[in-house]
Amino acid sequence: MQYIAPLAKLIEQFRALPGIGSKSAARLAYHVLEMDKSRAESLAQAIIEAKEKIGYCEVCFNLTDCNPCSICRDAGRDVSIVCVMEEPRDVAAVERTREYHGRYHVLHGQLSPLEGVGPNDIRIKELLTRIGEGEIQEVIMATNPDVEGEATAMYIARLLKPLGIRVTRIAHGLPVGGDLEYADEVTLSKAMENRREM
Ligand SMILES: [Zn+2]
Repeated sequence: MQYIAPLAKLIEQFRALPGIGSKSAARLAYHVLEMDKSRAESLAQAIIEAKEKIGYCEVCFNLTDCNPCSICRDAGRDVSIVCVMEEPRDVAAVERTREYHGRYHVLHGQLSPLEGVGPNDIRIKELLTRIGEGEIQEVIMATNPDVEGEATAMYIARLLKPLGIRVTRIAHGLPVGGDLEYADEVTLSKAMENRREM
């Protein structure tokens, strides 16, 4: 099917998003065309604003619109405990449980020799720097419960243990091979609570 050029371009943009196939892309594009002009402008503006205002926290590397982020600046949170996670969306999942009151460190990935991701490609150095500052006593490894996530947790645990840091791993009960961000709040709370020494 031939689309007129501006429509084809819009469909192509939606099609490039994760989880969107050709049919959904076309449906979204037609939906945008039917919107009021002001609605469409708000949508475009929200995308631009999110890109302009959101960056990484210089301390924990979570997404933030201020630096350091609100979690790192929150005096009510325990500075001695840090939860290490793969992605910002994992932090959002743990925050939804409302059970964790320490801080975070976002690696932005997992070690994956097959995909060429080594220790220098994720934020491990930055974690070591934070630990060097002396306030952190426990690191909870909350990487995903898949092969690469386990390997990443093991690798970091081996670096931290000689520094006299308590290193724990979130409990299983999370689906193996699963994605942390999709775990329900109760499962995730339990996994944090029942963490074990590494
Ligand atoms: Zn932060």
